Amino acid sequence: MNDILPGEVETWQFLEEQARRIFGLYGFCEIRVPVVEKTELFQRSIGETTDIVEKEMYTFRDKSDNSLTLRPEGTAPVIRAFIQNKLHTRDPIAKLFYMGPMFRYERPQKGRYRQFHQIGAEVIGVEDPKIDAQILTMLTHYFANVGIADVELQINSLGCPECRPGYRQALTGFLEKRLDALCDDCRRRYRTNPLRVVDCKVPGCKEATGGAPSVLDHLCGSCRGHFAGVQEHLREVGTAFTINERMVRGLDYYTKTTFEMVTSSLGSQNAVAAGGRYDGLIKDLGGPPLPGIGFAMGVERLVLMKGDTRIEPSSPELFLAALGEEATRYTFGLMSRLQRRGLHVEMDYEGKSLKAQLRRADKLMAKRVLIIGEEELARRQGQLRTMETSTQESIPLDNIEDFLMKDAALNR
Ligand code: ATP
Ligand code: MG
Repeated sequence: MNDILPGEVETWQFLEEQARRIFGLYGFCEIRVPVVEKTELFQRSIGETTDIVEKEMYTFRDKSDNSLTLRPEGTAPVIRAFIQNKLHTRDPIAKLFYMGPMFRYERPQKGRYRQFHQIGAEVIGVEDPKIDAQILTMLTHYFANVGIADVELQINSLGCPECRPGYRQALTGFLEKRLDALCDDCRRRYRTNPLRVVDCKVPGCKEATGGAPSVLDHLCGSCRGHFAGVQEHLREVGTAFTINERMVRGLDYYTKTTFEMVTSSLGSQNAVAAGGRYDGLIKDLGGPPLPGIGFAMGVERLVLMKGDTRIEPSSPELFLAALGEEATRYTFGLMSRLQRRGLHVEMDYEGKSLKAQLRRADKLMAKRVLIIGEEELARRQGQLRTMETSTQESIPLDNIEDFLMKDAALNR
């Protein structure tokens, strides 16, 4: 679990602000849900035999002996909130986004942490493949906008309760003959959740499942039509994608369209965003039978991909350097008045020497410094110093606030 310090937090703020802005263009509203939920919510939605539920959840008992879990993902809590607050009675279509910490007890490594952060979005109430295409286009738009270029959108379809059993059977038949080549986890998955075997990152498993039957060859007519529709609409709007028929998501609730934004620049942690359709989930959790689709981006991975393109913390537009008690009192008042008018102003709080104050202004990368000593105060004059050029000019203190506001606006 990481601290996010000044110097890096600016990148986080940038990524979050852009999500708010871009998702807003597509009609999404923010929803904020608690970080703790009843354990059963995740067991019922993500699935008992998934990695998350089997071994990654932070689960504990509270003082009333309820089993609670720190949320490992955002979709189940958002759907829980949607149902509980009957959001479908307000609007038949809900477009919601969220951002915040998620918790999984995983082996920490680059791009994989125990507290990590996701920015995600969900659309509830639309079955048409146009909405799949919109979500994917929004995701692509977001990545282009924040300047992350090394990504590829991969899509797949996992079918529905009609056609998945047929695929599962074909796959089990295929795997049966190759059990010896699979890792321990996959031998277990073969029985509990065979689709996950196709997605295993272990080289031996990858090789053994090379010729595995494709889920796309087992789709029913309706799923096939839906998947064709998604591709057609993506082409219509020029959103680039590739089909990856081996992509199997790690959560049980997905149906039909699934997708990942994949990069080659983060080693084995190659998915920066992932999601899919979950048409049965809302009903399964006790809500109305509405379809849904959504995704989550891993913010730590976005930050890693942004790399060294550091976003500097904002520097003060003005630094006030005062010498002597009276001048300090004057500048302290002036600083507050300017801050209330919207200027980023700093000063020295501890009566240091002029040299030390100028050093501080330099360190903060202030654009201008207004120097006021007792003598300047008596003459109602200040010295306005431009840090970049080390030049100074004398300016009158009458009307100084208006002057400094205008000066800062010109320097922006
Ligand atoms: P992976 O295959 O990388 O384990 P996942 O299938 O478990 O990913 P999801 O549950 O779909 O991931 O979460 C969506 C995104 O959240 C991932 O694509 C990734 O960017 C990010 N993510 C997931 N788990 C972690 C983690 N432990 N630390 C950091 N980011 C994570
Ligand atoms: Mg995972």
